[in-house]
Amino acid sequence: MKFGEIVELGGVREQASLATREIIRRSNAEAAEDARVHLYVISCDTCTAPKACCSFVTTAYLYEAMPIAARLVRERRDTPALRKRLRDAADRMETTRSVEYRSPCVFLDASERCTIYEDRPSVCGTHLVSSPAEQCARPDGKVEKLLAPLQDAAPPELAQVLAESIGLEPIGMHYFGVMPRMVLLCLEAWGREDFERFLAKHVRAAAERYQKHRPPA
Ligand code: SF4
Ligand code: SF4
Repeated sequence: MKFGEIVELGGVREQASLATREIIRRSNAEAAEDARVHLYVISCDTCTAPKACCSFVTTAYLYEAMPIAARLVRERRDTPALRKRLRDAADRMETTRSVEYRSPCVFLDASERCTIYEDRPSVCGTHLVSSPAEQCARPDGKVEKLLAPLQDAAPPELAQVLAESIGLEPIGMHYFGVMPRMVLLCLEAWGREDFERFLAKHVRAAAERYQKHRPPA
Protein backbone atom coordinates (compact mmCIF):
# COMPACT_ATOMS: atom_id res chain seq x y z
CA MET A 1 0.00 0.00 0.00
CA LYS A 2 0.99 3.57 -0.53
CA PHE A 3 1.64 5.88 2.41
CA GLY A 4 -1.41 8.03 1.67
CA GLU A 5 -3.64 4.96 1.59
CA ILE A 6 -2.35 3.78 4.95
CA VAL A 7 -2.85 7.22 6.46
CA GLU A 8 -6.37 7.62 5.05
CA LEU A 9 -7.71 4.08 4.89
CA GLY A 10 -5.89 2.59 7.85
CA GLY A 11 -7.41 5.01 10.35
CA VAL A 12 -4.03 6.60 11.03
CA ARG A 13 -5.18 10.11 10.18
CA GLU A 14 -8.08 9.93 12.62
CA GLN A 15 -5.92 8.39 15.34
CA ALA A 16 -3.16 10.98 14.90
CA SER A 17 -5.60 13.84 14.67
CA LEU A 18 -7.59 12.78 17.72
CA ALA A 19 -4.39 12.45 19.75
CA THR A 20 -3.21 15.94 18.85
CA ARG A 21 -6.64 17.55 19.33
CA GLU A 22 -6.89 15.93 22.76
CA ILE A 23 -3.48 17.27 23.80
CA ILE A 24 -4.48 20.77 22.71
CA ARG A 25 -7.92 20.52 24.33
CA ARG A 26 -6.49 19.30 27.63
CA SER A 27 -3.71 21.87 27.69
CA ASN A 28 -6.07 24.73 26.91
CA ALA A 29 -8.58 23.59 29.53
CA GLU A 30 -5.86 23.36 32.16
CA ALA A 31 -4.51 26.78 31.17
CA ALA A 32 -8.00 28.30 31.35
CA GLU A 33 -8.49 26.87 34.83
CA ASP A 34 -5.09 28.14 35.95
CA ALA A 35 -5.95 31.60 34.58
CA ARG A 36 -9.29 31.54 36.41
CA VAL A 37 -7.72 30.53 39.72
CA HIS A 38 -4.78 32.93 39.49
CA LEU A 39 -6.73 35.80 37.99
CA TYR A 40 -4.93 36.44 34.75
CA VAL A 41 -6.04 36.56 31.14
CA ILE A 42 -4.83 34.36 28.31
CA SER A 43 -4.20 36.93 25.59
CA CYS A 44 -4.33 34.38 22.77
CA ASP A 45 -8.05 33.78 23.36
CA THR A 46 -8.97 37.19 21.96
CA CYS A 47 -5.86 38.02 19.96
CA THR A 48 -6.39 40.11 16.83
CA ALA A 49 -2.74 41.20 16.57
CA PRO A 50 -0.44 40.05 13.77
CA LYS A 51 0.56 36.50 14.68
CA ALA A 52 4.18 36.95 15.71
CA CYS A 53 3.94 33.52 17.34
CA CYS A 54 3.59 32.03 13.84
CA SER A 55 7.04 33.26 12.79
CA PHE A 56 9.15 31.03 15.02
CA VAL A 57 10.80 27.68 14.38
CA THR A 58 7.98 25.15 14.64
CA THR A 59 8.54 21.47 15.29
CA ALA A 60 6.29 18.45 14.93
CA TYR A 61 6.27 14.71 15.09
CA LEU A 62 5.72 13.05 11.74
CA TYR A 63 2.36 11.76 12.94
CA GLU A 64 1.24 15.34 13.60
CA ALA A 65 2.13 16.23 10.02
CA MET A 66 0.01 13.39 8.59
CA PRO A 67 -3.40 15.08 9.10
CA ILE A 68 -1.92 18.31 7.71
CA ALA A 69 -0.66 16.54 4.59
CA ALA A 70 -3.99 14.71 4.22
CA ARG A 71 -5.80 18.04 4.37
CA LEU A 72 -3.51 19.62 1.78
CA VAL A 73 -4.08 16.68 -0.56
CA ARG A 74 -7.85 16.73 0.06
CA GLU A 75 -8.07 20.48 -0.54
CA ARG A 76 -5.85 20.24 -3.65
CA ARG A 77 -3.28 22.54 -2.07
CA ASP A 78 -0.40 20.12 -2.62
CA THR A 79 1.23 22.02 -5.48
CA PRO A 80 4.87 22.36 -6.59
CA ALA A 81 4.77 25.96 -5.31
CA LEU A 82 3.64 24.86 -1.84
CA ARG A 83 6.28 22.12 -1.72
CA LYS A 84 8.95 24.68 -2.62
CA ARG A 85 7.79 26.99 0.17
CA LEU A 86 7.81 24.10 2.63
CA ARG A 87 11.28 23.03 1.49
CA ASP A 88 12.68 26.58 1.71
CA ALA A 89 11.18 27.09 5.18
CA ALA A 90 12.47 23.71 6.38
CA ASP A 91 15.97 24.41 5.03
CA ARG A 92 16.06 27.76 6.84
CA MET A 93 14.67 26.40 10.10
CA GLU A 94 17.18 23.55 10.12
CA THR A 95 20.15 25.83 9.58
CA THR A 96 19.26 28.94 11.60
CA ARG A 97 19.53 29.44 15.34
CA SER A 98 16.05 29.57 16.78
CA VAL A 99 16.70 32.95 18.43
CA GLU A 100 17.52 34.37 14.98
CA TYR A 101 14.76 32.71 13.00
CA ARG A 102 11.78 34.94 12.18
CA SER A 103 9.69 34.21 9.12
CA PRO A 104 5.93 33.84 8.72
CA CYS A 105 4.76 30.25 8.67
CA VAL A 106 3.93 28.80 5.26
CA PHE A 107 0.36 28.23 6.51
CA LEU A 108 -0.28 31.77 7.71
CA ASP A 109 -2.40 33.71 5.22
CA ALA A 110 -2.49 37.43 4.45
CA SER A 111 -5.25 37.91 7.03
CA GLU A 112 -3.06 36.48 9.81
CA ARG A 113 -5.16 33.32 9.83
CA CYS A 114 -3.83 29.78 10.13
CA THR A 115 -5.04 27.92 7.06
CA ILE A 116 -4.63 24.52 8.71
CA TYR A 117 -5.94 25.61 12.10
CA GLU A 118 -7.99 22.49 12.92
CA ASP A 119 -4.96 20.32 12.07
CA ARG A 120 -2.21 22.46 13.59
CA PRO A 121 0.46 20.60 15.57
CA SER A 122 0.41 20.53 19.35
CA VAL A 123 3.31 22.97 19.63
CA CYS A 124 1.08 25.63 18.02
CA GLY A 125 -2.08 24.74 19.92
CA THR A 126 -0.37 24.84 23.31
CA HIS A 127 1.56 28.08 22.81
CA LEU A 128 -0.30 30.55 25.02
CA VAL A 129 0.76 33.82 26.60
CA SER A 130 -0.62 36.04 29.35
CA SER A 131 1.23 39.21 28.29
CA PRO A 132 -0.53 41.72 25.99
CA ALA A 133 -0.67 40.53 22.38
CA GLU A 134 1.21 43.60 21.10
CA GLN A 135 4.26 42.46 23.07
CA CYS A 136 4.62 39.34 20.93
CA ALA A 137 5.64 41.28 17.82
CA ARG A 138 8.09 43.64 19.57
CA PRO A 139 11.75 42.61 19.40
CA ASP A 140 12.17 43.78 23.00
CA GLY A 141 8.66 42.78 24.06
CA LYS A 142 8.28 41.07 27.42
CA VAL A 143 6.34 37.92 26.64
CA GLU A 144 4.87 35.87 29.48
CA LYS A 145 4.53 32.42 28.02
CA LEU A 146 2.42 29.94 29.96
CA LEU A 147 4.67 27.01 30.74
CA ALA A 148 2.84 24.64 33.06
CA PRO A 149 0.74 22.68 32.40
CA LEU A 150 1.59 22.84 28.71
CA GLN A 151 4.99 21.20 28.63
CA ASP A 152 3.71 17.71 27.99
CA ALA A 153 2.51 18.43 24.47
CA ALA A 154 2.75 15.41 22.18
CA PRO A 155 4.40 12.83 24.44
CA PRO A 156 7.12 10.85 22.60
CA GLU A 157 5.52 7.50 23.51
CA LEU A 158 2.58 8.39 21.34
CA ALA A 159 4.87 9.07 18.40
CA GLN A 160 6.43 5.65 18.94
CA VAL A 161 3.07 3.87 19.01
CA LEU A 162 1.91 5.57 15.83
CA ALA A 163 5.22 5.00 14.05
CA GLU A 164 4.98 1.29 14.86
CA SER A 165 1.34 1.11 13.83
CA ILE A 166 2.24 2.11 10.27
CA GLY A 167 5.39 0.04 10.18
CA LEU A 168 8.02 2.78 10.13
CA GLU A 169 11.59 1.55 10.42
CA PRO A 170 13.36 2.13 13.75
CA ILE A 171 15.90 4.93 13.15
CA GLY A 172 17.28 5.39 16.65
CA MET A 173 15.28 8.56 17.18
CA HIS A 174 11.71 9.73 16.94
CA TYR A 175 10.22 10.67 13.60
CA PHE A 176 10.42 14.32 14.50
CA GLY A 177 11.72 17.53 13.00
CA VAL A 178 10.82 21.02 11.92
CA MET A 179 7.16 21.15 10.96
CA PRO A 180 7.53 22.18 7.28
CA ARG A 181 9.98 19.29 6.73
CA MET A 182 7.63 16.78 8.33
CA VAL A 183 4.71 17.99 6.21
CA LEU A 184 6.82 18.01 3.05
CA LEU A 185 8.06 14.47 3.67
CA CYS A 186 4.49 13.26 4.21
CA LEU A 187 3.47 14.82 0.89
CA GLU A 188 6.48 13.36 -0.91
CA ALA A 189 5.81 9.94 0.60
CA TRP A 190 2.06 10.09 -0.07
CA GLY A 191 2.07 8.13 -3.33
CA ARG A 192 5.01 5.84 -2.49
CA GLU A 193 4.88 2.18 -1.56
CA ASP A 194 8.49 2.30 -0.35
CA PHE A 195 7.58 5.03 2.15
CA GLU A 196 9.21 3.21 5.09
CA ARG A 197 12.67 3.45 3.53
CA PHE A 198 12.01 6.91 2.10
CA LEU A 199 10.86 8.39 5.42
CA ALA A 200 13.60 6.69 7.44
CA LYS A 201 16.27 8.07 5.13
CA HIS A 202 14.94 11.62 4.93
CA VAL A 203 13.88 12.11 8.55
CA ARG A 204 17.33 10.92 9.65
CA ALA A 205 19.03 13.21 7.10
CA ALA A 206 16.96 16.19 8.29
CA ALA A 207 17.88 15.47 11.90
CA GLU A 208 21.59 15.26 10.99
CA ARG A 209 21.37 18.55 9.11
CA TYR A 210 19.65 20.15 12.09
CA GLN A 211 22.37 18.91 14.47
CA LYS A 212 25.21 19.93 12.18
CA HIS A 213 24.11 23.43 11.17
CA ARG A 214 22.11 24.66 14.08
CA PRO A 215 24.22 25.43 17.14
CA PRO A 216 22.37 25.53 20.45
CA ALA A 217 20.38 28.72 21.02
S1 SF4 B 1 1.17 34.27 21.18
FE1 SF4 B 1 0.82 36.48 21.00
S2 SF4 B 1 0.52 36.89 18.80
FE2 SF4 B 1 0.24 34.67 19.16
S3 SF4 B 1 -1.96 34.39 19.42
FE3 SF4 B 1 -1.03 34.64 21.47
S4 SF4 B 1 -1.20 36.82 21.94
FE4 SF4 B 1 -1.50 36.60 19.71
S1 SF4 C 1 0.69 25.94 11.64
FE1 SF4 C 1 -0.78 27.60 11.93
S2 SF4 C 1 -0.69 28.07 14.13
FE2 SF4 C 1 1.16 26.90 13.62
S3 SF4 C 1 2.75 28.43 13.13
FE3 SF4 C 1 1.74 27.87 11.22
S4 SF4 C 1 0.12 29.40 10.90
FE4 SF4 C 1 0.74 29.45 13.06
